Amino acid sequence: MFINHELINELLENAKNSTESDIDKVLFKASSRENLTYSDIATLLQINDDIQLKKLFKIAGEIKNSIYGNRVVLFAPLYISNYCVNDCVYCGYQRCNKFERRKLTQDEIREEVKILEKMGHKRLALEAGEDPNNCPIEYILESLDTIYSTYNQNGNIRRVNVNIAATTVNNYKKLKEKGIGTYILFQETYNKPTFIKMHGKSIKNDYDYHLTAFDRAMEAGIDDVGAGVLFGLSDPKFEVLALMMHNDHLENKFGVGFHTISFPRLKKAEGMELNDFPHIVDDDTFKKIVAITRLAVPFTGIIMSTRESASMRNELLKYGVSQISAGSITGVGGYKECEDGKNVDQFTLDDHRTPIQVLKELINDEYIPSYCTACYRMGRTGDRFMSLAKSGEIHNVCTPNALTTLKEFLLDYGDDELQTMGEKLIQKELSKIKRDDVREIVYNNINSLNEGKRDLY
Ligand code: SAM
Repeated sequence: MFINHELINELLENAKNSTESDIDKVLFKASSRENLTYSDIATLLQINDDIQLKKLFKIAGEIKNSIYGNRVVLFAPLYISNYCVNDCVYCGYQRCNKFERRKLTQDEIREEVKILEKMGHKRLALEAGEDPNNCPIEYILESLDTIYSTYNQNGNIRRVNVNIAATTVNNYKKLKEKGIGTYILFQETYNKPTFIKMHGKSIKNDYDYHLTAFDRAMEAGIDDVGAGVLFGLSDPKFEVLALMMHNDHLENKFGVGFHTISFPRLKKAEGMELNDFPHIVDDDTFKKIVAITRLAVPFTGIIMSTRESASMRNELLKYGVSQISAGSITGVGGYKECEDGKNVDQFTLDDHRTPIQVLKELINDEYIPSYCTACYRMGRTGDRFMSLAKSGEIHNVCTPNALTTLKEFLLDYGDDELQTMGEKLIQKELSKIKRDDVREIVYNNINSLNEGKRDLY
């Protein structure tokens, strides 16, 4: 298999001898935008010195800025079924947790989607436990139709990313036909013995099948895949190098690697105690691995969920995060139940701000909140997206779209304070756009939005 455990362990062992000057050399290489080798990444993972950490964060910030500018993409998860046949020891949905399982009816999905649309969301991540009987692929496909066809007065959800268990090429083809955005699957841990220990007697407990899920997804024509590790299950240094090997494997085989990498950190959930996990990742290590990932794969989006606190998310935006969720609920039917004052999360969350509060903080920190979904709808996926990103031309496409979707949000969902802040930001950002034709696009879009048109890109 393409995750070479021996090689990773050897790289990590050798890197322990890295000197200050070895680390500085790799930092210099990264700041010169040279590709980093596995050995370079292993060296960076040894950083402990405060000055070198600051350098690392500074370079990560510069790389992020040069590729993603100050745009931050927003989304929300939608949990549709908590039936699960697996016994993943870290997860609140594990089979042995006895609670009343539930999957949403299509009417209930419509209701959840309407609430999400009322929050201003345009991009969702569909989430479900694994249960071939209670949650078959047909149910997921029907639910996708329902989500895309649920309109409010301002339009509909424009991109649905899907996070469901590893499946067959045939099923991935069906997902592709339904127009999914990214197919997301977390490896949880790349450490095979740990993977086996964590998943008990489960369908999921097939390391190789899980690891090759993206190969099957790509064979089925899904261009954009989103990886992740559940940080806390195994040594984070091992996981970072394994993520890079997985990414390289896809790049070599399909010409494109991960579209995104998510950084979920283990949280307390029903039926598990954090103390039972010996590899809990502390805040400082977490920040470091996010920044190192930014250096290692500059063109891969980095996603940070509301598992993390507002202050951690704000800080990580500076070191590489490009997408965040907002106003999330991680329970089935949770948006409706939250409106009704109940709570049913899959695991605990640390950022409970509403999207409007998140947007205000983003704008305060001079970020452009973006609800853009244009790339995927224009067919700019996989290597077509990557070559645009690598050419640097992406700013001329993404900034106008980010500003246009922000304006749309302000008109449809903004309160007075957000509208004032947002308008000021839009004017400021417009003045920064150098090309007249690009600025013109935004002016035209703003005029059309003011006239009542929507969904412009
Ligand atoms: N059932 C799908 C599968 O098997 O891949 C994934 C859906 S699950 C709703 C999404 C992710 O939540 C999992 O892949 C896992 O990484 C994460 N997760 C599970 N338990 C967690 C916990 N206690 N803390 C943080 N994240 C957790």
